[in-house]
Amino acid sequence: MLHIVVMIPGDGIGPEVAEAVRRILAAAKAELQWIERDAGLAALQRGADNVLPDETVKSILEHGVALKGPCTTPIGGGFSSINVALRQKLNLYGAVRPVRSLKGVPTRYEDVDVIVVRENTEGLYSGIENIITPGVITSLKVATEEACRRIAKFAFEYAISRGRKKITCLHKANIMKLTDGLFIRCAQEEHDKAYKKIVYEELIIDAACMKLVQNPAQFDVILCENLYGDLISDLCAGLVGGLGVTPGANFGLKHAVFEAVHGSAPDIAGKNIANPLALLMSAVMMLRHLAATRNDRSCETVANRIRDAYNQSLIAGEKTRDLGGTLGTSQFADAVIARLK
Ligand code: NAD
Repeated sequence: MLHIVVMIPGDGIGPEVAEAVRRILAAAKAELQWIERDAGLAALQRGADNVLPDETVKSILEHGVALKGPCTTPIGGGFSSINVALRQKLNLYGAVRPVRSLKGVPTRYEDVDVIVVRENTEGLYSGIENIITPGVITSLKVATEEACRRIAKFAFEYAISRGRKKITCLHKANIMKLTDGLFIRCAQEEHDKAYKKIVYEELIIDAACMKLVQNPAQFDVILCENLYGDLISDLCAGLVGGLGVTPGANFGLKHAVFEAVHGSAPDIAGKNIANPLALLMSAVMMLRHLAATRNDRSCETVANRIRDAYNQSLIAGEKTRDLGGTLGTSQFADAVIARLK
């Protein structure tokens, strides 16, 4: 079965890692047909009048699935985040970021296996900021009962589908009593209603950060609102070798966009040194999603072959520089292709 997938290479290291991933998927004979679309600065450079062209959104709406590279967002001014806009436009409310220790990637910990589930559509990322008077600015944190319940249910369902045992909901409801209070109340209530077989616990996020770096193995699935989920994902990435090995997916009811946790990494862009593994792992998540939602077992088989190949590469020391290796982006792709069985 041929699956049409939208590819958004994005900015900075995006095109390099996207090309590496595309080559590996082709070598593994994934039955994918790519439709390339622009977003980010890349869209402007190719003459679009918008960093998120309508054509890009329309293509994802039509084909249901996209693999996306990172998009640059200017700091402290300029256009708003394309990533946030895309998640809001497509209602991709549930972000999933699996963080696992990998053999061949030595870190302080050997047994990390955490899934971060992040609410993707509201919180402080609603971007509602106001100048009240010169020198006084507010940023509105939005929490709706609908979105809080929706992400809680999503997290419990996802945990069950992956055989997970425990969800830890991170919050700051001691300070943000109404917004974070609503978030944990909804999670608690959804748990009590339908998900009692999963252990549910709550932790204030500052204490959770300390516990994560002390002993990450005590965490299973972590549920967070938007901003906390963003920060915790990077913290967790640091536990297993960094942003080069942390994939992600954004799920809505009908659409899904798969993308690495990392950004466009302008400091290393264009040098053939970026690690394409995080995007490759995101592509593997995408293949599993296609297998599950379109009942196509061949996608699962290809996903497993690619996973086995990159695991073998890492164990053999075939790694990019961020992981202590010497390979460039394209050489790492060659190494994984050579190990495909
Ligand atoms: P970043 O993730 O781009 O980079 C942080 C650090 O990690 C840098 O030192 C970088 O070199 C390194 N790094 C990141 N990915 C790597 C990879 N694949 N291989 C090796 N090293 C890697 O974060 P940043 O510098 O804070 O952000 C840069 C830009 O990316 C900003 O404009 C930001 O808004 C954007 N961003 C986009 C997304 C997205 O599109 N989903 C996510 C995060 C940041």
